[in-house]
Amino acid sequence: MSSCKRLQVLNSHISGAPQQSSAMASEKDAALAAVASDSPTIFDKIINKQIPANVVYEDDKVLAFRDIAPQAPTHILLIPKVRDGLTGLSKAEERHCEILGHLLYTAKVVAKQEGLEEGFRIVINDGPNGCQSVYHLHVHLLGGRQMNWPPG
Ligand code: AMP
Repeated sequence: MSSCKRLQVLNSHISGAPQQSSAMASEKDAALAAVASDSPTIFDKIINKQIPANVVYEDDKVLAFRDIAPQAPTHILLIPKVRDGLTGLSKAEERHCEILGHLLYTAKVVAKQEGLEEGFRIVINDGPNGCQSVYHLHVHLLGGRQMNWPPG
């Protein structure tokens, strides 16, 4: 890591949460406006090929496509093709263990496919406080830049 990068990292650790950008604010607004429900979401339209998506991986259970508003050079969403009540992680039940494991393993496979050898971040937003805006469980795979901590 360059000394400049290291300073940025140290600075973000010392100063706490970074300043909120307008992109972050609109993400938060979208999340707060979202209503948690069992209704079909935009992701159903992507699964059913009613709207286009930049798909990077697909198998019989999982679909992975590029986020329309990327927060990192690589920003991919992994979703179960069948929601089965998983509007969010907080709705997970024991029967979902297999698909949850499959989503995480697939995130690792896609990270390798995307060349994220230096590392990556997995995020699952849940509910209004977690800034969830689409109520169909999804795993964010972010990479291609240095991440900071704590997250916003
Ligand atoms: P979350 O805020 O965790 O619910 O994440 C929802 C994500 O879905 C956001 O990062 C959006 O940018 C992304 N998104 C919404 N609509 C689309 C779409 N049509 N294609 C790809 N990504 C989308």
